[in-house]
Amino acid sequence: MKFGGTSVGTVASLRNVKNIVEGESGPVVVVVSALGGITDRLIATATKACGGDASWREDYDYIVDRHRAIAEGLLPDDCRKEVWANVGEILQELHNLFYGIELVGDISQRTMDRVVSFGERMSSLMIAHVIAGARLFYSPEFVKTEKRYGENIPDSQLTDSLIREAFAGFSEGVAVAPGFISSDRDSGKVTNLGRGGSDFTAALIAASLGADVLEIWTDVDGFMTADPRVIPGARVIPRLSFVESMDLCNFGAKVIYPPTIYPVFHKNIPIIIRNTLNPSAPGTFIADEHVPCEWPFRGVSSIKDVCLFTVTGTVPGSLATRIFSVLTKNGVEVLLDTRSESAERHESEVSFATREKEAERAAELLSKEFDAELSNGEVKRLTQRHKLSTLSIVGENLKNLEGMASKVAGTLAANGVPVLAVARGNSEINLSMVLQSADLENSLRLIHKTYLE
Ligand code: ASP
Ligand code: MG
Repeated sequence: MKFGGTSVGTVASLRNVKNIVEGESGPVVVVVSALGGITDRLIATATKACGGDASWREDYDYIVDRHRAIAEGLLPDDCRKEVWANVGEILQELHNLFYGIELVGDISQRTMDRVVSFGERMSSLMIAHVIAGARLFYSPEFVKTEKRYGENIPDSQLTDSLIREAFAGFSEGVAVAPGFISSDRDSGKVTNLGRGGSDFTAALIAASLGADVLEIWTDVDGFMTADPRVIPGARVIPRLSFVESMDLCNFGAKVIYPPTIYPVFHKNIPIIIRNTLNPSAPGTFIADEHVPCEWPFRGVSSIKDVCLFTVTGTVPGSLATRIFSVLTKNGVEVLLDTRSESAERHESEVSFATREKEAERAAELLSKEFDAELSNGEVKRLTQRHKLSTLSIVGENLKNLEGMASKVAGTLAANGVPVLAVARGNSEINLSMVLQSADLENSLRLIHKTYLE
């Protein structure tokens, strides 16, 4: 059972967590995030300290107060003093770290990784005492990462065997472990699985231990047919296949951290999304089966701030291969792509979308890769369009509904929305369109109304 930041953020929500976990009968591993908002605050405080802004001390005090509120409101009388003293030592260490950053006026990635680890270190320590009879486990001892393309990626094999070892003697009751934090397999220094990575920690543990189910407890009722802030009529989706949930996440649904799904999918362990703030809601059940769906697709998701690249050239065949290999090698995520060939002109055209924040790097990589071809004319055009968004529809039904793709694109076109690119995903269960961001909200409403209401 993984509980996110909102679930563990206040005395009231943590009380729900306590009731939910203590009501479980089987052995359960509880993975927790930092108290809601603390990770952001840790980063902000360190950034201020680094810039010599003395007000970092107020931010630090806020962090102390948030933890004190939980300690005072929820720690049992018999251990409150002792546990708060332990948290106090960690807080002192954090204070020293901020002070050091202020003195040096510089912060490395490694130091920032240390800073952000404090959120989960403190939350897990306290929650292990809030839940009756729970035992604390320390994830950096068994979640190991390695450095690849400048990022910390889990070493799955090593992590798998270390998790089994760590939990070998655990067969009943409750274990509590911090999400998100890990350590480098070579240096032993603390690392993390990326923002939102607590879900991933839970999935790794569930997969290694062969859990019956992975429950992700969050602050929404489940996956929805659309973002309810944009579409008031959005509904909870009761069941999804693994692939559907992956596609919804990859194309913008923010319910779970996308890498979470793979380890449990691989072991066929179902995922249930539940709402800590509304525990009676059934949530979304995700498993390896296609449950018939009365709608043409399950849901619609979107990503804002996207850039669309188009490359045209006479480097037949190899154009797409070269583009995508240079981007993947350098860790640039391609959200979608389309390719076309013109036989008579021996010309091919490749369009692909990236997140805006990766666009500049993608452009640099491409102009370097095609330096020679750009000057000898084999690459004729290399263009970028900004202020775009993707809109994706996702559902297993799309496999069978021939022509659904053009129908949906047609609905948009008929309503005067220019569709700049259309791509069908490899899984064949998603269809993504690139639109101007200004058209996004209207388009979401239109598609939801026409096909999902
Ligand atoms: N606390 C981390 C974050 O805010 C990890 C998580 O909550 O999943 O990103
Ligand atoms: Mg999260």
